[in-house]
Amino acid sequence: MIRTFENKLIVWGARGGLPASGSEYSKFGHATCCVHLETENKNFVFDAGTGIAKLGQKIIADNDKRPIDIFIGHYHFDHILGLPFFAPLFNKEIKINIYLPVLNNEAGIKALDKFLSPPLFPMDRSIFSENTNFIEFKVGEEINLKNNIKCKTMSLPHPGLNTAFRMYSNNFDFVYASDVEAEQTTTIEDIAMFSKNTQYIFIDSSYTDKELKQRIGWGHLSYQQVIDLAKKLKNSKVLIFHHDFFRSDQELEEILSNVLTKSNNLSVCRELSEFTFQ
Ligand SMILES: [Zn+2]
Repeated sequence: MIRTFENKLIVWGARGGLPASGSEYSKFGHATCCVHLETENKNFVFDAGTGIAKLGQKIIADNDKRPIDIFIGHYHFDHILGLPFFAPLFNKEIKINIYLPVLNNEAGIKALDKFLSPPLFPMDRSIFSENTNFIEFKVGEEINLKNNIKCKTMSLPHPGLNTAFRMYSNNFDFVYASDVEAEQTTTIEDIAMFSKNTQYIFIDSSYTDKELKQRIGWGHLSYQQVIDLAKKLKNSKVLIFHHDFFRSDQELEEILSNVLTKSNNLSVCRELSEFTFQ
């Protein structure tokens, strides 16, 4: 029998800001940003929010020795908090590359070292296995990956900046754009251009219109702005992502029952949602 492998995306954390604790959040999930692309020869991970900890447990439990590439978009806590709890970093049989963006001319490793040092964290990154590599990249450039997999990057307006990634090969094509504010009139159009004809885009969907008015400068999009983006990306599934931590299941369902009717290519991420490629 010929074994067929299906590349897929798995959401390990769909929250933004803080993990959401309590049963009233369990439908959409508790953990912060982490999306996993599983391919036949490699695991790719986008952001290391608290969701990455459970992914790490699964990789170890499955005895999965495939190399792992982790892409960090920016260094706010909700996107890196899970990193030192990612079990494969302590297993020297698993080769791990961690790709770090240079943001505002500061080396990524410098930003990460601030977090991975006392008093914020008890240990520094020397606790990770010797098979861990840190690779800096300039936002806007393409990251050089092997096996005909390409990763384009784009700078996103956000306090301290953020990075959008477009990963594509013959077998998959998606965009991961976690935190972004429409600071310029062209921001939504710029994201649409970068994402043109991709199959999926994970996009920051944090606020109602009313909330956005009170949170200018906080670095996030409103549902209406995501609807505008979806209308420009008719060939893509636009995935509502980065749910604010204070938003209960009931509140999110009420909001989404309206939002999802506005464009038929909108969909929503929950923790453990899976998406396959055609
Ligand atoms: Zn965030």
